[in-house]
Amino acid sequence: LSADLPELILKAKKAGPFLGRHPWVFSGAIDKIEGRPADGGEILLRASDGRFVARGLYNSQSQIRARLYSWNETEALTDAFFADRVLAAVSLRKALGLLAPEAACRLVFSEGDGISGMTADYYAGFIALQFNALALAQRREAIATALTRATAARGVYVRTEKGIRELEGLDIDDGPLSGEMPEKDVTILENGLRFEVDVREGQKTGFYSDQRDNRRTVAGYALNRRCLDVCCYTGGFSLNLARAGAASVTGLDSSAAALDAARRNAARNNLSNIDFVQGDAFTALDAMGKADRTFDLLVLDPPRFVQSSGGVSQALKAYVRLNALALRLVSPGAVLATCSCSGRLSPDEFLSVLAAAALTAGRTVRVLEKRGQPADHPVNAACPESEYLKCFICHVE
Ligand code: SAH
Repeated sequence: LSADLPELILKAKKAGPFLGRHPWVFSGAIDKIEGRPADGGEILLRASDGRFVARGLYNSQSQIRARLYSWNETEALTDAFFADRVLAAVSLRKALGLLAPEAACRLVFSEGDGISGMTADYYAGFIALQFNALALAQRREAIATALTRATAARGVYVRTEKGIRELEGLDIDDGPLSGEMPEKDVTILENGLRFEVDVREGQKTGFYSDQRDNRRTVAGYALNRRCLDVCCYTGGFSLNLARAGAASVTGLDSSAAALDAARRNAARNNLSNIDFVQGDAFTALDAMGKADRTFDLLVLDPPRFVQSSGGVSQALKAYVRLNALALRLVSPGAVLATCSCSGRLSPDEFLSVLAAAALTAGRTVRVLEKRGQPADHPVNAACPESEYLKCFICHVE
């Protein structure tokens, strides 16, 4: 019964975002706590005047003191509640036609699916499950069961993002949670290309499915162009560009393991005009600029530079520098597909980054296409941070 639940009472005038259904209650918004919520336990959120706002799960160890899941006062956050949310999320992917047996897609996208604090990625029969919230990690058995029922997956494997254990007080190990252990390399099919995915050890949960549509769209510009794919990981963009008839493709990444996989992926798809090279993006682009090398199409897909809100201005500088270095390498009339995967950098701010980089490099940049994340990474309109991926395809003079 809701009446028995511990309650978080908001400070005066702090209820707006939560009435607007933003799911993150930071410690600073809370005036007092009535009762003794357990870490991971259910709470009721009330405005300063006592009126009901939402139901959520509490974590004293996290800056996000509570995550909100229901705005219905009588809806308890039981295992069945989360199983229903998981089922709804998977149903959407099925309806979108993204859940083919060999496919890679995101089954659950945290805030985008009303389940703040977890993601689940599908890789040809295996699921990589990632928790960013202690409360959901505690409910992992029920969540894995729901995911397995909804997808008939062979196994569920838990992965934890670096730093999250400390941020959330998560006490959870990476490893198989239910069913079979994924093979060392699961092979998935995307845009008609095969990629190996290391579900156990690969970056993120093994593959960046969020760039699926952008890879295909950017490849539409590749014909007869000399391409450079910066931060290529296992070759996602590179392979799409090569298949689309690029004159040549160079993939650059700092990770030797990712490049080994990229080379195997190119071979697996019989693509031979790709050259994968190891290096730091900043150093390598600078060196290429000094050597007067040019390309007709550049992809820039760096990792998230923004780690915390404090680091935004540092990150902005890094984005400007990287884009300016890239702009020095493009031939007149070239295409630059520049990406940012930081939820703390809005599309408008990213446009300013591009303007600053263009100014630094002395080039004229026009945006042809402003792209973002695909349908299996839905943006929660009430949570702007869930719109994290930007991919601007630009014409450079
Ligand atoms: N474009 C890729 C995903 C990129 S993820 C795809 O389509 O699949 C970001 C990549 O940047 C990772 O592979 C990581 O190894 C690489 N990376 C991180 N820091 C780097 C640096 N300083 N220089 C070059 N690559 C870097």
